[in-house]
Formats: sequence, structure tokens, C-alpha cells
Amino acid sequence: MRKRGRFLAAHPWCCFCGGNAPATTIDHVPARTCFPDRVGPENFEFPACAYCQAATRLDELAFGFYVKLGDPSDENFREGELAKALSGLKNNLPNLLPELNLTPRDKRNSLRLMGMEKPAHILAADLPLAGVPKDVHPHLLRYAHKIACAIYYREQRRIASRDHYVWATWTQGTNRNGIGALEGFISMTPLIVRGTRRNVGLGDRFGYRCNKADDPDALTAVAQFGSGLVLAMLVVSPDCKKKLRDDGGWVKVAEMLVPPD
Ligand SMILES: [Zn+2]
Repeated sequence: MRKRGRFLAAHPWCCFCGGNAPATTIDHVPARTCFPDRVGPENFEFPACAYCQAATRLDELAFGFYVKLGDPSDENFREGELAKALSGLKNNLPNLLPELNLTPRDKRNSLRLMGMEKPAHILAADLPLAGVPKDVHPHLLRYAHKIACAIYYREQRRIASRDHYVWATWTQGTNRNGIGALEGFISMTPLIVRGTRRNVGLGDRFGYRCNKADDPDALTAVAQFGSGLVLAMLVVSPDCKKKLRDDGGWVKVAEMLVPPD
């Protein structure tokens, strides 16, 4: 209790809804459900109002499941946790269940869309590919917004206002075309933060790279869970958003964010 009291005294306002709501709770972002054994990195606790903590409950469920499903690394795989997350999804959000009965043709098409080649020794029918239903996107994006606000607060040491523009997108680490589309983002985010915990090796469970500026007020970040889910995020002030629009698009972001020496 004392730790919680101290934390909320130091961080009195919710960092997820613009900074006008008193924080009443500590929110782990990314949620513990995103991590094997529910062990996530230290110092990823954020002040939240009751509304913001509760509002993303279902998004967390969907996000946690697709983080697990999308990470091909053996090190992060826990069969029991995946089964549990799957049953959570079945009970609460059955429309978000992955499509497991893809035809060989569907699988070949999705490989092509991801810029990957079928290994010669595997039949298309045997590829371990699952389809992601369209309904999953808004859940992943809402949660990505929450992570963007959290990283903004952590890096800028202030709260993104209600008028800040928060943009996020996601892809898979194995999706070459998806990662290729983020190349600009990746090359302009030189500050690398790896999630760690004292006395526990977290491997590659979570990390992000970012870049930030005070004037114009902007943060850009690319986060990854293990070898799987990748998020690209941008948080900019209303002024900065206007400049981006007037100057004609994303290219200008790189020019405004000056990498450190
Ligand atoms: Zn809030």
C-alpha cells in the first residue's frame, strides 16, 4: 500500500485521458498478460483513472492473445498460457478467434502478402499460419494507443493532452512487407529501451526504440514483443500535427526529430 501511495503522490494524474482525471490506480502497460509467466519489465507502471484502467480490459485480452500467438520464439512460448488466453477469448470475444482452417491457397496468398517464400520442404497445407479476423484490428489499435500514451509519459515526462494526436499501427515481426513499410519509422528511432527486471532475465520479451522532441512536441516509437507483434506509434501536439499536415506528410517527421549525438 505504501508503494502505491508513494507512486500516486508522484504521479497524481491519469496519463491516458489527457491529464484532467485524478489517478486512482497503477496500471501495468503493457499488461502482464502480454508476457510469459506474467512477468513483464520493471518501471512500466503508469498512473490511471478507474475508467481508463477498466476501459481496455477486453482490448488487453485480445492484445495478450495475439502477442502470444504471433511470437514464434520458443523461449517465450508457454502452451498452458496460450490455451488459457484462447479460452478467455472464446468466452468473451468469440468473434476474434483466429481462423485456423485456411486452405493451402489462402496460406500461399498470405505468404505472398507478407513477402515470404514457402520453405521447399513444407507443404502449403502444413504451414503454421492462422488468419486474423478483421474485428481484431480495433482492439489491437486501441491497446496500441494506450501503449503510445504510456511511452509518451515515460519518455517526455508529461501527459499527452486530449488534443494530442495519437497514431498507431501494428504488424508481425515475421511479416517482411509489414516491417519494410515501417523502415522509415525504424531508422528515425535511435533511442533503444529494452524491458528489464532485476534478477530476472527477460530476454527479448519487450523493448522499444524511440525518438522525441520538445519543440515541436513529438514522440515516435516502435515496440516489439519477442519476435512477434510490432507496433509503430506517433504522438504529436496539435501544433505539430498541423505542421505535418501542412507540410505534406510523414517524411517531415524525420526532419523534425533530430537524432541525438
Ligand atoms: Zn484516465
